[in-house]
Amino acid sequence: MKNFKNIIIGGGAAGLLAAIFIKKSGQPVVVLERNARVGKKILATGNGRCNYTNVGATREDYYSDNPDFVEQVLQQFSPQEVISFFEDLGIAHKVEEEGKVFPMSDQASSVLDVLRYELDEENVLCNAFVKEIGRTEGGYRLELEDGRQLFGKTVLIATGGKAMPSTGSDGNGYRLAEQLGHRITPLRPSLVQLMLAADGLQAISGVKFKGVATLMCDGKTIQRESGDVLFANYGVSGPPILQLSAVAGALIGKNKQPSVSLNLLPEFEDSALLSHLYARFHGRPDKPLAFALIGLINKRLIPRVIRAAGIASGQILAGSLSNREMKALADIMQNWTFPIRGTKSWPSAQVTAGGVDTAEIHPTMASTKHPGLYFAGEVVDVDGRCGGYNLHWAWVSAAVAAENMVSR
Ligand SMILES: Cc1cc2nc3c(=O)[nH]c(=O)nc-3n(C[C@H](O)[C@H](O)[C@H](O)COP(=O)(O)OP(=O)(O)OC[C@H]3O[C@@H](n4cnc5c(N)ncnc54)[C@H](O)[C@@H]3O)c2cc1C
Repeated sequence: MKNFKNIIIGGGAAGLLAAIFIKKSGQPVVVLERNARVGKKILATGNGRCNYTNVGATREDYYSDNPDFVEQVLQQFSPQEVISFFEDLGIAHKVEEEGKVFPMSDQASSVLDVLRYELDEENVLCNAFVKEIGRTEGGYRLELEDGRQLFGKTVLIATGGKAMPSTGSDGNGYRLAEQLGHRITPLRPSLVQLMLAADGLQAISGVKFKGVATLMCDGKTIQRESGDVLFANYGVSGPPILQLSAVAGALIGKNKQPSVSLNLLPEFEDSALLSHLYARFHGRPDKPLAFALIGLINKRLIPRVIRAAGIASGQILAGSLSNREMKALADIMQNWTFPIRGTKSWPSAQVTAGGVDTAEIHPTMASTKHPGLYFAGEVVDVDGRCGGYNLHWAWVSAAVAAENMVSR
């Protein structure tokens, strides 16, 4: 059995940063990664550009049963410190809308490249799938899938969540935590597309609009987000939808029935759309309704909108529309509401909601149950909004864990 002072299970964002911190402290460290290469998921982040932190990250940007825990951890390593850490490694940064930080190179691969560069061969063991973990005197015994055994005085579980399992993070890390008696809170895919209960989605699949999406439940407005919304044959996607999905998924988990209301034309405030329709239809009363809406909304949405407004035919002349029908049309275009029947599943999700219960983790990222055991990254029951917050959590929790591992 090989002995190590520090073992990290999982060579993703959290595991790699922790390894660099530990190596810099002068202590030996090894990362065990099941894949043939480390950091597969990093390459997929930010549409290949890696939105690696957010200058404004606070506890409000995270979902967790324990917001005080999140805050205590975040306070120990700021977004500026994340930026400086990567600047030192060579990643020049740029801040884009809503505080999102990207590498100047616009390449997620550059983030992975510089992380890998900091580690030596003896720091990374690939094709090393940790199957079992148990306590022994003074540390932990790890068994790999191929039968190899390792001993670690301190161990960091940084196995990620269940989102996009093809990257290697398929949820098996929760089992390792459970083997040591840690509780796992219920898991759900998050930052994921919403599936809607609606007919005819196939016909409008692929239509994109810049609008506002509002999550509703029990007649109340829960959350509102704006940006590009994309219709798909199962429902809707796009950045505002991903933002709503965290809360929508939680509501569905509580057997609630949330819905999403879409505003196709947020440019028109109050009754401005109704006035616009009135002028439009009475200016050219001889046009069939379906034609009279061309140029206002995406053509492919027109038949669906007319039907949803309860108007029997798009062939009706625009000038013959009643005030009631015009109002129904305006309402649909600004408040088109669909029941949400669920979220898409793990392969489509960007992050996992739920994980190792934070009630059993100190703000040092140490287990409250076992000395020398630490957690970092998505495996913990903390998930962030879309916008660089999830990688930020991975770096911060890893930096905190690493600092405490080396002082043991
Ligand atoms: C498509 C996509 C886009 C994203 N874009 C962004 C973005 O732009 N900004 C952002 O902030 N977040 C983004 N995220 C989320 C972010 O990538 C994750 O939250 C983050 O990578 C989590 O880091 P981690 O180290 O905890 O886990 P991971 O990066 O998932 O790494 C875990 C590693 O552990 C390994 N592993 C698992 N089990 C074992 C085992 N038993 N033995 C050995 N190794 C094991 C896995 O193979 C994996 O390499 C995105 C996610 C996806 C899927």
